[in-house]
Amino acid sequence: MTTGSPIRSTERPDTPTSIHVAPTLAAALDALNEYGAAGSAFAGGTWIMRSPIRHEQMKAHYVAIGRIAELTTVRIGNDAVEIGAAVTHVALATALAGLPEFAVLANAAGRSANPAIRSMATIGGNLSTSEFAAADCVPALLCLDAEVEIAGRDVRERVSLADFLRSRSSFAPGRLVTRIIVPRGERKSAHIRLPLRSAGDYPVAIVSLAASIDAAGRVRTARIAVGSVEPVARRWERLEAALVGRPLDAAAAARAAAELAGEFVGRDGVDAPAWYRVSVLPGLVRRATIAALSS
Ligand SMILES: Cc1cc2nc3c(=O)[nH]c(=O)nc-3n(C[C@H](O)[C@H](O)[C@H](O)COP(=O)(O)OP(=O)(O)OC[C@H]3O[C@@H](n4cnc5c(N)ncnc54)[C@H](O)[C@@H]3O)c2cc1C
Repeated sequence: MTTGSPIRSTERPDTPTSIHVAPTLAAALDALNEYGAAGSAFAGGTWIMRSPIRHEQMKAHYVAIGRIAELTTVRIGNDAVEIGAAVTHVALATALAGLPEFAVLANAAGRSANPAIRSMATIGGNLSTSEFAAADCVPALLCLDAEVEIAGRDVRERVSLADFLRSRSSFAPGRLVTRIIVPRGERKSAHIRLPLRSAGDYPVAIVSLAASIDAAGRVRTARIAVGSVEPVARRWERLEAALVGRPLDAAAAARAAAELAGEFVGRDGVDAPAWYRVSVLPGLVRRATIAALSS
């Protein structure tokens, strides 16, 4: 790799012909714009480098974004935390360690995969990989009402994470996720994942939960997001509604989850069948509630 200029290799047709290490965001956007559909961002590389295992063709050109200062910073403000897209899971978990209101995200980033992957995989890569159903940061950020900033050469826009998830597979070439913005607020939260030995490091189901509690001890707002069960993580809004206005209680939350779990259409995979992913949800909701209450 070189800084600022591409290296070219044509040894194997299934490897990229250039990797351009961008020194600045502007340089990255220029390069992506030039490559168009033939190029894309290279963040931690933990998904891209496994393309041959998935029998996927690599892009002809990659733009490495890991050395861009504004993409590798976590800024903790009074109203929000702003996370650069190229912040690694381990750096994110470390930055949030002293902020209990972000327990759900610190746990998602700090317990995903394994230590080697966590030191390379980035939050932007985790959100941008539309084929990856088991991304830990996605449900955690959904239940924190996160927004995603996207930049192109002449455009910068901010969208809700839910909207981003709906549109990310048709992302225009030349665009980058630059920041994730997460509002601050008093809340109890937890991230519970169920890994199975047969699934390697991937969780077969994930429940992320964040709730604010009023002075009388009742749930004022609830956010629950489910990952790895369906192809894309999503909020469980009917369960959220069932929790609001009552004390946060693990047994009651698990009962409500069991009644409502039928709304999920699980995905079949080599690691776990569809029915199994759905059947573990009430237990994960119970564990998430207990963990949130002690957070
Ligand atoms: C064995 C193994 C186990 C894993 N287990 C888990 C797990 O349990 N939980 C978990 O959450 N993750 C896990 N991961 C990581 C996960 O599978 C992805 O590899 C990772 O989230 C991708 O991040 P990255 O920074 O490496 O992205 P890259 O591989 O660099 O990129 C992935 C895709 O995202 C695009 N992209 C990257 N950054 C941006 C950006 N800023 N803007 C636009 N597009 C971008 C790239 O162009 C590419 O298409 C695991 C990985 C491995 C190898």
